[in-house]
Amino acid sequence: MNQYDSWQLARQLKAKGFKQVPFGAPADVVIVNSCAVTHVAEAKSRKMLSRARRVNPKGFVVFTGCTAELLLRRGVNLEHADLIVSNKEKHLLVEQICELVCERDFSALPEENLLPYSQPFQEEHDDGVHERIRAFLKVQEGCDKFCTFCIVPFTRGEPRSKPLSQVLEEAEELVYEFGFPEIVLTGVCLTLWGREFGLRLENLLERLHEIEGLKRIRLSSLDPRDIDEGLIRTCAELPKVCHHFHISLQSGDDEILRAMGRNHNCEQFRKIVEAFRNAIPDVAFTTDIMVGFPGETETHFENTVRFVQEIGFTRLHVFRYSPRPGTKAAELTNTVPSEVADERAQRLIELSKELWRKFAERFIGTKQVILVERCLEARENGSDVKFVVSGLTGNYLRVNCRAYEPIHPGTLLTVKFVEIEPERGEVLGDLG
Ligand code: SF4
Repeated sequence: MNQYDSWQLARQLKAKGFKQVPFGAPADVVIVNSCAVTHVAEAKSRKMLSRARRVNPKGFVVFTGCTAELLLRRGVNLEHADLIVSNKEKHLLVEQICELVCERDFSALPEENLLPYSQPFQEEHDDGVHERIRAFLKVQEGCDKFCTFCIVPFTRGEPRSKPLSQVLEEAEELVYEFGFPEIVLTGVCLTLWGREFGLRLENLLERLHEIEGLKRIRLSSLDPRDIDEGLIRTCAELPKVCHHFHISLQSGDDEILRAMGRNHNCEQFRKIVEAFRNAIPDVAFTTDIMVGFPGETETHFENTVRFVQEIGFTRLHVFRYSPRPGTKAAELTNTVPSEVADERAQRLIELSKELWRKFAERFIGTKQVILVERCLEARENGSDVKFVVSGLTGNYLRVNCRAYEPIHPGTLLTVKFVEIEPERGEVLGDLG
């Protein structure tokens, strides 16, 4: 969600004549688009803000996103920010920046603080794949499900959907103007898309599927409460829809699911997975699991481990519970010691690797289609191999293979699975 929001902000600012530089490079304006989904995310966001100020002591620093929203509500002042913008006001951000920045006298800034930047910087590597191959398209905002641990309904507000015509227009722009072959549909609660128009996510998929230049459609996180036969059937029938579904589980124990206010149980989840598997045999499932929710005993956790194994997810996103002030769960006192939560998280991370290996192994010797993301020159002395191609299958397996000719990123390419590299979470393929 934040990647999409940041991308939009960057686009709008570029249209106003700004030039984008990597985070950490001297800049006239720095925007920190914060997250607050866990207390770690909140702490990182605040740390980013102080880094932004450190790197640009005299630049104009803007803080927005969910942590900004929370801090504004709590009345906390942030010394490093020149401007704090709530999520509700984010759409005004570009105009505000333009007004405020134009009023500011940048001639007083030291030379290196002006664009183009000249200082070296060391920052996280961004391979920019989402900038070339995979575009995020936010179609929905907000959530009203109020899971007891979650701060998102407070920071992102009521659910609302982007109208169908606007989504289609933006999708066509991404495909035909920017050249993206793949679109990832995102939303705070994607499965709520269209509710206010009497439409459903499958209606959107059908219309997007008609965009000729679009090669793949991926869905981001799905809420099991909203998945039904209709959505599963549509995903199976539309060849551009990737066979990878991230369905948020959180816990594999019914008692903990109830305490989380999730309004689904393991049996319902199992049925969804079965229905998907019947319709799409090579389907891959990933999920989010939260460990250390208040009251989670060893028995509850063991139930989660068993359920995760039974479902056979290909990857787990493991989170340690952290109380988010203002949520129901934050009032619970039966907390789990952090070392216990850490140990449970570690177990699940190991299990995740094992499950990935099992899933990937199934495809060894078979031919699969990848969407090429990059093609780099290979340095193999005495061999004809000149390039290494890397891409993802529809069911989200990363495949690398050698090539004798350059292959253009964005190409759909059939490769044979030769072996898997579990430590890297990658597959070695062959073009032969
Ligand atoms: S469905 Fe639950 S976890 Fe997801 S955003 Fe809504 S409240 Fe948060």
